[in-house]
Amino acid sequence: MKVYSSFFRQFLLIVILFFSTSIAQNFTPYNILISFDGFRWDYPNRGITPTFEMISEKGSSALSLQPSFPSKTFPNHYSIVTGLYPQNHGLISNNLYDPFFDEYFSLSNRAAVENSRWYKGEAIWETARKQGIVTASYFWPGSEIDIEYRRPNYFHYYDHDRPYMERIEGVIEWLKLPHNERPKFITLYFDASDTYGHKYGPNSEGINKTVMSLDSLLNILFGKLKEIKLLDSTNIIVVSDHGMNEISNQRVINVDEIISNSSYKSMDDGPFMFIYPENDNIDLIYHQLKEKQNNYRVYLKDEIPQHYNLSASHLLAEIIIIADPGWSLVTNKTSSGYYSDKSSLGNHGYDNFHIDMHGVFYAIGPSFKEGYKTGTILNIDIYPLLCNILNIKPKQNIDGKLERIQTLLKVY
Ligand SMILES: [Zn+2]
Repeated sequence: MKVYSSFFRQFLLIVILFFSTSIAQNFTPYNILISFDGFRWDYPNRGITPTFEMISEKGSSALSLQPSFPSKTFPNHYSIVTGLYPQNHGLISNNLYDPFFDEYFSLSNRAAVENSRWYKGEAIWETARKQGIVTASYFWPGSEIDIEYRRPNYFHYYDHDRPYMERIEGVIEWLKLPHNERPKFITLYFDASDTYGHKYGPNSEGINKTVMSLDSLLNILFGKLKEIKLLDSTNIIVVSDHGMNEISNQRVINVDEIISNSSYKSMDDGPFMFIYPENDNIDLIYHQLKEKQNNYRVYLKDEIPQHYNLSASHLLAEIIIIADPGWSLVTNKTSSGYYSDKSSLGNHGYDNFHIDMHGVFYAIGPSFKEGYKTGTILNIDIYPLLCNILNIKPKQNIDGKLERIQTLLKVY
């Protein structure tokens, strides 16, 4: 009798274990990935962000989120959702020139922004859709491209002026859809911290006001999730693509005044510049720039430092100039506007190892540990983290590594 009862107890235990693990395996939480553009790593440490403080207490956070180089918007938003360095996903800048096709990419060029040819790799929404997970995006670079299966199931074309509350309502509406149509992964994007960081600088009253209003917005989202009874089953992951550095019209380098007697095309300005020499002038231009190297660094394409992870890109210019943080590279064409007055006091795109180029990572929800704080993490590691949470297989040969980031998770 005793033997029988101990056997029965063991059998019962196995049955309970089986069901509880299968329930755990079947439970996939909802995930909202929010980007506050240009939200610098230290903004939540200013005592003006109660919602961020609550997340840090009840969820997981990192000291900072290191962007990939260059610390610009499109390259980094796309690194976050693909787990790839810009050299491997293609968008090595917000502005690109493809010499093979003689075509240009820029954020204001809608046809280019929607042209899937520029976007390599696989975004998380594509990986998830292939494995039966419904996804949605209320704005994210790469979500509007012209191939249906490479987009989220639901998405919006970018509208800079769309009211922020409308974006939040849109997400809530998606989460009210019937179960089989409801997205498990959603992105949300807000530009204000970038816009006002550029305008007023990262250490201004103006940016602090913006930071406070974004913090309140986050709190409103929590409230709305609670109303629809999904707060406890939703992970909210707040990230930013880069930080912000103070710039000054006293720290400007005019490249046209350094390069003489040589024709060239340039792309981008401010923190870095790509130079495309014409008429075989590479060596001449490089040596002119190298000779005057002060407050910037100049590199030939094949000597760009390995840690920038740029050299594999076929879109890389022959010569790359990178300004020291806070300095601005200009040409005669750009010197009279943006950098010459006080209309712009902040910029980004500098060395991604510089702390003020770093963004934020704050996450709360059923998948994340409570009160867990880690050091600086890399934005390429977010893709494998999301795949793990969504219980899907990540694409192979990515740059991101789950091992570096998985300690944030309760179970992995
Ligand atoms: Zn940005």
